[in-house]
Amino acid sequence: MILTPEKITSDVRRDGADFLIIGSGAAGSVLAYHLAKAGKKVVVLEKGHYYPPEAMRQRELFMSQLISPNTFQPTSGKHTRVAILQGECYGGGTVACDGVTWDLPATVLLDWERLGLKGYSPENPEIGAIFAELREQLEVNTVPDTHHNPNNQLLKIACERVGLEVHSLDRNVRFCLRCGFCAQGCNYGVKNDSAQTFLKWANELGADVYTDCEVLRIVPGRPEGFTVEAAIAAKPKKLGRQERVSGRPAVFQTRRVIVSAGAIGSPRLLLKSGIQARGNAGNRFTLHPTGFVHGLFPDQIIDAFYGINNSVECTHFAYVNRHRSYYDPEIHGFFLEASFSQPWGIANILPGAGPTHLELMHNLRHVGGIQINCKSDNCGRVTLKEMGYDLSAADNRRLIFGTRLAAELLFRVGAAKVWTCIFPEPLLSPQELGKIEKVGYAHKQALLHTGHPFGGCTMGPDPETSVVNEHCECHDTPGLYVCDASVFPTTIGVNPYLSIMMVARRTAKAILAQG
Ligand SMILES: Cc1cc2nc3c(=O)[nH]c(=O)nc-3n(C[C@H](O)[C@H](O)[C@H](O)COP(=O)(O)OP(=O)(O)OC[C@H]3O[C@@H](n4cnc5c(N)ncnc54)[C@H](O)[C@@H]3O)c2cc1C
Repeated sequence: MILTPEKITSDVRRDGADFLIIGSGAAGSVLAYHLAKAGKKVVVLEKGHYYPPEAMRQRELFMSQLISPNTFQPTSGKHTRVAILQGECYGGGTVACDGVTWDLPATVLLDWERLGLKGYSPENPEIGAIFAELREQLEVNTVPDTHHNPNNQLLKIACERVGLEVHSLDRNVRFCLRCGFCAQGCNYGVKNDSAQTFLKWANELGADVYTDCEVLRIVPGRPEGFTVEAAIAAKPKKLGRQERVSGRPAVFQTRRVIVSAGAIGSPRLLLKSGIQARGNAGNRFTLHPTGFVHGLFPDQIIDAFYGINNSVECTHFAYVNRHRSYYDPEIHGFFLEASFSQPWGIANILPGAGPTHLELMHNLRHVGGIQINCKSDNCGRVTLKEMGYDLSAADNRRLIFGTRLAAELLFRVGAAKVWTCIFPEPLLSPQELGKIEKVGYAHKQALLHTGHPFGGCTMGPDPETSVVNEHCECHDTPGLYVCDASVFPTTIGVNPYLSIMMVARRTAKAILAQG
């Protein structure tokens, strides 16, 4: 059952669930389904509100503020600023997700195995089998060439002209109507996000989901079990950030707790609960810093805001190709996608203010863009107040190389001017590309973005350096699990939601095997 605040008429005190799952996103939803399927009594607590497809109103600003109310919060590094995008609703980030689907590359599995996570070996057939199962459940399919919008076609044509590897993407959307509002929640219910799939199936199997229910603290019991203290919003606001702490109190007693509150929410909840994990909670927070390049095409209507936002990807210099002879780890390790181009989103990512900004916004129908998603090798720390993160010197070089390449590609397919997110002035010709190297990204005027934060509660074999073991159980707190993007020990260099679900599926198996 979905328990929205309207259905809660008194303070909540509830005992007896086998599992309490905090967060209903990519990981929480998969865990809820598999544990409920095994006959366990599952309760999910989700901070965000429940929006059925008919409530996804195709109004960019309005919907973004509802399903991602804390979006664009900046990191607090010394010389780097990254705005973080996250979903915060029933279904979590999968509802805001563009649906781009990747398996965890073998190159990354090898790194994880080397870090001591033996089950994550690329040789382990279980991993391939889980990805195949997830792809079937989510009806993942490849976007046909006839469905690329002009913005994605620009990227494809430009890459093909210079011989770069470029391909159509896999997505979890069946019968896509190509309205362009994936990131604002699918109004047609055809995107197989967690609300439409795993949570729905978990509900049918008897799991209960409390929405608008923010967990404030987890108190480990003596000798076992947990008390989870939460607040249910008395009445969720219709727009803007939601303050729930003053809502109705809710207290849950349970044997086992799974924290799936995302790469920022999970470490913060452990810290709020005084669970420091030997000082590791919050550590090794990282992300895919993403830069943007936009071109003005005065003679072409691009209308990048219509159609599938991301249907093409250039992986030529991506980490998946680390084994290639040309791959240079000092400057490669990024993938290119078409930029997202809804008006509010683009206004946030375009540089500068005043006349330069206005020129681009006035000409939005003629603007096409590319995003450069970098696999960072640096880490920071999430605290209760901040998300500390800085680019490494190699990250800066990767982003510079990728930005220069993306700008060059836009000039090749006819851009009259190109804007980066490093400085407000446009580049007027390919001869000016050298300015990108000169300025670079290691300063706070360069605004980077990411929808892919990781770490903060990392997996590892050693309790001195990690929070959870390979099965996502806290080293020092038996019965407490953390399972979501926060357990990833490294960035992964591809779009992450399916890999997060894979880790959740493995965790569900391990938990059930424990009995
Ligand atoms: C705009 C956008 C587009 C994206 N597009 C893609 C894409 O195309 N492909 C892809 O692979 N990935 C994409 N991603 C990334 C993907 O959505 C995330 O990586 C993924 O959802 C993270 O899964 P998770 O389980 O770690 O956390 P989430 O899915 O973020 O779930 C965490 C949930 O926990 C809840 N929560 C947090 N704190 C608390 C608390 N204290 N109490 C109760 N609940 C709490 C949150 O509200 C949230 O619902 C996109 C992300 C965004 C924002």
